[in-house]
Amino acid sequence: MTVKKDMRVPFFSGKISFHKRWSQISERLDEVISEGKFIDGGAVRSFEAAIQNYTGAKHAIAVNNATDALQIILKAAGIQHGDEVIVPCYSFFASASSIANVGAIPVFTDIEPETYNICPEQIEEKITPNTKAIMVVHLFTQMADIKKLKEIAEKHNLILLEDSAEAIGMKAEGLHAGLHGLAGVLSFFPTKTLGGIGDGGMILTNDDEFAKTCRLLRHHGKQGTEYYHDIIGYNSRMDDIQAAVLEEKLRHLHEDIVRRKKLAERYDERLKELHPVVTTPTVVEKPYRAVHVYYVYLIEADNRSELAAYLQKRGIETEAYYPYPLHVQPCFQHLNYKYGDFPHAERASTRALGLPLYPDLTEDELDYVCDVITDFYEGGGNL
Ligand SMILES: *Cc1c(COP(=O)(O)O)cnc(C)c1O
Repeated sequence: MTVKKDMRVPFFSGKISFHKRWSQISERLDEVISEGKFIDGGAVRSFEAAIQNYTGAKHAIAVNNATDALQIILKAAGIQHGDEVIVPCYSFFASASSIANVGAIPVFTDIEPETYNICPEQIEEKITPNTKAIMVVHLFTQMADIKKLKEIAEKHNLILLEDSAEAIGMKAEGLHAGLHGLAGVLSFFPTKTLGGIGDGGMILTNDDEFAKTCRLLRHHGKQGTEYYHDIIGYNSRMDDIQAAVLEEKLRHLHEDIVRRKKLAERYDERLKELHPVVTTPTVVEKPYRAVHVYYVYLIEADNRSELAAYLQKRGIETEAYYPYPLHVQPCFQHLNYKYGDFPHAERASTRALGLPLYPDLTEDELDYVCDVITDFYEGGGNL
């Protein structure tokens, strides 16, 4: 097969959407400058209200990034030194580092191979008298099996927290991700489905008292009086320029999500002929109402590293998703896990590859990516 002339397809780009919406965004930025507060000001309050409206959360608490959000919800939930928190070993680092950063112990479990989410069946065998919480992660496209997870948490009296950093727009049982347990988080890292022009994060909760503690923690544990601190907190407020940009982008989130789905379906169609050398994402229809969002388009591929290198050579950027599972990270060596403990996660870590997927991506670019992948397996680059 002959491939068209090389194109450059970045793993992520938001330039076109951003410029298309620039006139509204720049008006909002003018307001931020006029208000002159810059941090945790009017634009942040307005964005929090917009996220409450979008997700249905009673409280949306804007913070500096989702890593901070995770640490704050763990702390507000009372997780402390020596407590154990069950978390999947296949995720972004922050799902586990936040647990360690509040002094607790991440207890890893494997994932379900088809959804990449925590395997509920493995949780109960990990529960000890020190287990305090389950940190569920919703990865890539779909939520974890939240119904089973809720049942397990209730049965064993564990706190359910959601690392829903990737999950804006995803729902189960009619309820947005992050609202199924005590609290959840959202990330507005630039590549996320709702991405800012820098760092940003949000805490979601329906619990009034818990929300109050989170608001204290994000602002140095300070309630009202200047320089007077009730508890020890963090400096984790959101910048108003991020809030203004994000609120403007939130207005277009639905159309962005629809566009992502359309592109994902085109990838599915184009890549199915390569099955099983390349597998396309499986979306599991659970027996209850679920809404999926293609945040990442993740394939599994034979000879992933060679494929990624070949794509790179042809101008296409990809991302190997989670090449080092958390249980074998050097920083968690003291927890005594070893390679071989979690076969599904380990297999995914050697085979999974994220392809370019964002509203700016054109059909031509997508077709080019698929042409080059096909070319690789048909002998062009597989040498
Ligand atoms: C992106 C991400 C985070 C961290 O978000 P930041 O806003 O970059 O701190 C945490 N968990 C998961 C699963 C993520 O994908």
